[in-house]
Amino acid sequence: MPVTNLLGVGPKIAAALEELKVTSVADLVSHYPSRHEDLSNVKKIADLRVGERVTVVGRVVGVKKVGRPVRGRTPGFSVQIYDGTGYIPATIWGRGWLLNQIVPDYSWVVVSGEAQRKYELQISAKNIELIDDPATIGDNAHAGRFVPVYPVNKGINARRMRTLIHRALDEAGRILDPLPAEILARHGLPNLHDAIHGIHFPTDKERLKAATRRLVFHELFLIQTGLAARKARLEKTESGRSHRGDGRLLNPFLKGLPFGLTGAQERVIGEVLEGMRPEKPMRRLLQGDVGSGKTVVAVAALLSAVESGGQGAIMAPTEVLAEQHFISISAALKDLPINVVLLTGSQGAAERRVALEAVKSGEAHVVVGTHALIQRAVEFEDLSLVVVDEQHRFGVGQRTTFKEKGVTPDTLVMTATPIPRTLSLTLYGDLEVSLLDELPPGRKPVETSMVEVAERAGAYEAVRAELEEGRQAYVICPLVEESEALEDVRAAEELHEELTEEVFPERTVGLLHGRMKATEKREVMRAFREREVEILVATVVVEVGVDVPNASAIVIEGAERFGLSQLHQLRGRVCRGLHPPKCFLVSDPKTEDSLKRLQALCEHQDGFKLSEVDLRIRGEGTLFGSRQSGMPDLKIAKLLRDIEILVEARRAAFELVAADPTLKEPQHRPLRREVRDLLGKDVEWLFRE
Ligand code: ADP
Ligand code: MG
Repeated sequence: MPVTNLLGVGPKIAAALEELKVTSVADLVSHYPSRHEDLSNVKKIADLRVGERVTVVGRVVGVKKVGRPVRGRTPGFSVQIYDGTGYIPATIWGRGWLLNQIVPDYSWVVVSGEAQRKYELQISAKNIELIDDPATIGDNAHAGRFVPVYPVNKGINARRMRTLIHRALDEAGRILDPLPAEILARHGLPNLHDAIHGIHFPTDKERLKAATRRLVFHELFLIQTGLAARKARLEKTESGRSHRGDGRLLNPFLKGLPFGLTGAQERVIGEVLEGMRPEKPMRRLLQGDVGSGKTVVAVAALLSAVESGGQGAIMAPTEVLAEQHFISISAALKDLPINVVLLTGSQGAAERRVALEAVKSGEAHVVVGTHALIQRAVEFEDLSLVVVDEQHRFGVGQRTTFKEKGVTPDTLVMTATPIPRTLSLTLYGDLEVSLLDELPPGRKPVETSMVEVAERAGAYEAVRAELEEGRQAYVICPLVEESEALEDVRAAEELHEELTEEVFPERTVGLLHGRMKATEKREVMRAFREREVEILVATVVVEVGVDVPNASAIVIEGAERFGLSQLHQLRGRVCRGLHPPKCFLVSDPKTEDSLKRLQALCEHQDGFKLSEVDLRIRGEGTLFGSRQSGMPDLKIAKLLRDIEILVEARRAAFELVAADPTLKEPQHRPLRREVRDLLGKDVEWLFRE
């Protein structure tokens, strides 16, 4: 039913509601309060005590204005109330318009506020409501109860919103519950009707709590059901490829590594290979903090694919990173009978043709490239594993789907942006998750400090000391808006010039920015890797994955403009060597939030911890951010707070879908409709039988 069917919703109110994304009565009843005001402590006047927050119901026996009128308006008024046990005056500021409606010796009011003693006992009222009949106080939306407070906007005030929702609940009648009764019983949840009434107009705290829990569960359960259905569907319809490597490539590769695997790497490699074994396509998310050694895991998986006679591809978000992967993977595999080819946009046409031909003929075993490149119509002879590096740079909805000759390759998605556990259960809820939760031994925490702009010389002195020890450093240019990309380049060039000519005239300073030609970028990176360049001035192009272990200091200019996870990534560039690394955040934090971010960075090294802090600072509103994530906004669940309910809802949803994958049983149909409404048209296919 459109919200305009409700009494009291004209075009203006309808427009204001629409701004709050409320267009139907159903939307209105799921416009949840942000908090409640407890006005439920109803007392008789004779029982009042000083200092108590109370609500009194009584008949008005006298009215007077208080304060000096301002521009013809009465600032406040006072009513004398009688309730059969005594008399008390109550004063309220504002609400002058009520004066005309109050008729002494006739009107009934409900007054809430604090009982105070000033000459005599009186109520300093926060709220005053006129009611028709004291017997009906239980029906009043605004008084004598837990009164809901709603998010509103300019076009609609809190009181109007409350009135409308109260009315909508009346109109809605009995609200049917799409969740199976058996799940409610098992999880001790109230039914939807009670929960919706309970969240708006709870009779007590306990009921409010139960209602909230139910609605959080509800919201998360619907999402998880969608994810479970998606997973079940894919598993049923797709045939993948069973990888049963014999170790002929993997073993020599592991043996040839200049280091032993960490326990976590060993475990995760095991999980990945195990996941690649069955015929159903693997879809796995590998989370590992910056520097935890994800590349080794990726190579192990690629080798296993090749051992089973297939091809593997690894996709990186930038050309710089793709080339770095190409160089390090080729080097690590140089003694093995394996062909690694590179595909980038900057290759010459001839070179590219040769590479594409090798991919198509199967001569190329492992293909390294940028996401864009590999996704775009590259023909493989037999692609059986795709590794997506640094997935967080891309919309989560933008998952790669390859279809090669009817066989779906396994996918391993790697991300260094630590996603708190809660998030990975939702956004990536249909993926298996492997966790690389251990850094290679000997990693030193990055000593991180905030440096005021005026004191940046001090940071450069510290960098000089590092260089004198034979180590290298990054200097990161401030972030500039996308639209000002050219300015970005100019700023980078200026900084480069300043460092070359004034600060470090005795050193070689390189420059890397997004507008450079690929060959130039390649040359600078090579020079930096081989220590010809000692200081690399760069824009954020080095953010992801660049790995030069000898670099031990990083200066980030304009640090307050970067996001927390971006800063953590940048800092990660210098945690790879054996020297205690340093990070300088040159900044002029203007907002409380940016200060908090920088402080968090100085305090914590652990990316998971940082991403939780980040979520807290940003709030969860922006969580699913881009619409392309394919996830609905959360109305009531808070992922950090509600992790336990999430885990419960997830288990329940996956169990239900395992028993009835397309939700075709009659008792599951309402649920199916609900999931479809929530997740939109593109989940339609999940439920086709
Ligand atoms: P990330 O997870 O950030 O992609 P990388 O795979 O780039 O990390 O690895 C970071 C650095 O750590 C590389 O120089 C790599 O050679 C090194 N490394 C990886 N695993 C180990 C290990 N088990 N012991 C020591 N160094 C390791
Ligand atoms: Mg990496």
